[in-house]
Amino acid sequence: MQTTSLPETAASDALFERAKKVTPGGVNSPVRAFKAVGGTPRFIERAHGAYLIDVDGHAMIDYIGSWGPMILGHNHEAVREAISNALTNGTSYGAPSEGEVRLAELVTKLTGAEKVRFVNSGTEATMSALRLARGFTGRDFIVKFRGNYHGHADGLLVEAGSGLMTNADGLGRSAPSSAGVPHAYASLTLVADYNDPEGLRRLVAERGHEIAAIIFEPVVGNAGVLIPTPEFRAALHDAKRSGLLLIADEVMTGFRLSLKGACGVLGIEPDLMCWGKIIGGGLPVGAYGGRADVMDFVSPQGPVYQAGTLSGNPLAMAAGLAVLSELERDPGIYGRLDEYTSKLAEGLASAASEAGVPLAVNRVGSMLTGFFQAGPVTRYDEAARSDTAAFATWFREMLVRGVYWAPSQFESIFVSAAHGERELDSTLHAAVSAFATLGGAR
Ligand SMILES: *Cc1c(COP(=O)(O)O)cnc(C)c1O
Repeated sequence: MQTTSLPETAASDALFERAKKVTPGGVNSPVRAFKAVGGTPRFIERAHGAYLIDVDGHAMIDYIGSWGPMILGHNHEAVREAISNALTNGTSYGAPSEGEVRLAELVTKLTGAEKVRFVNSGTEATMSALRLARGFTGRDFIVKFRGNYHGHADGLLVEAGSGLMTNADGLGRSAPSSAGVPHAYASLTLVADYNDPEGLRRLVAERGHEIAAIIFEPVVGNAGVLIPTPEFRAALHDAKRSGLLLIADEVMTGFRLSLKGACGVLGIEPDLMCWGKIIGGGLPVGAYGGRADVMDFVSPQGPVYQAGTLSGNPLAMAAGLAVLSELERDPGIYGRLDEYTSKLAEGLASAASEAGVPLAVNRVGSMLTGFFQAGPVTRYDEAARSDTAAFATWFREMLVRGVYWAPSQFESIFVSAAHGERELDSTLHAAVSAFATLGGAR
């Protein structure tokens, strides 16, 4: 009989060792590696509702929701059925099918975009939207905001948000923010500060005539949650006067903050929008869309080339349709998500304050970040001042108590419709003792 007591993460640890031998860093996307918070990542065996179950048999309350898509909770019956039904008809045709038309009809109806094109990830959506903006305007430069993340296309890996904030040695590195991105590409990306309307107005006044597009997160999730001020929103709008296109990257916020996305809630009118995450219901889907006169520049209608072997995949379309239909059928979901997340925000703030730990909680709908600092946090440079070591300790204390928070200070967490009273109570119970270990209050 085995007498040595193995760590309770033995199965995850063993898989991670194997993974590191065959995959860089042992993971297929950097933030999964727990580099910023220490310890080894949990390997997941299955997921249901608000829970992830790891290979050692621990059930954890999940606040990552696959980084956004799982707004209905994991393994939702309607989504599972839709995928199973689609599966009986084959997995990919390389020719058009009805699901693509139906999802496009639904997305255009909900968001106000006139035409959409489906791709396979958020990265592909933003990359394609920018090419389209350049093709349409005949201009080369783009503007992005410090700390916003738009996927990993070359020209967008410039001061690019959480994965880089978390894994880089320091913050505020100058462009490009990844090895392998030619300076020539990065130099076409002009970087401005989010929530700095004066800075944006100056940039547009000087160079607006050479700028094809401004791409932005309508609510930032990738530097932690940052909320756009009315003055900043007005500056974005006014920038359109110089003939550039406004591209709202709704990959995270689309169908998360409302059926109309963040722009619909905030009254922003972009020329193009990008989607991902929820639009695929947990399968790989991205999309971009907007003004018909712009979208008609896309091949085969227009001169801007963009294609995809698996784009509009029938299983992925079925999953996306199932999620969006469910959200449309029961719009009360957004109110319930808001209520849960606001209680979570209040509970975290009071647990932190009781323990004497400075915490600034930013929240919009079911997106939330607790910055380990006194705050307020409205800008990237302010977010970057958070106490990441304290966050890392708190993260680990939450994890051993069965709460799976996002493993980075600079991420939003996501609540799902499957999170209820029981999960809220357990989470806040865990938070009270996790903060207490930090504050030394007890
Ligand atoms: C996740 C994300 C992306 C990239 O999407 P992928 O599917 O990971 O390529 C782009 N923009 C925003 C705002 C995101 O949150």
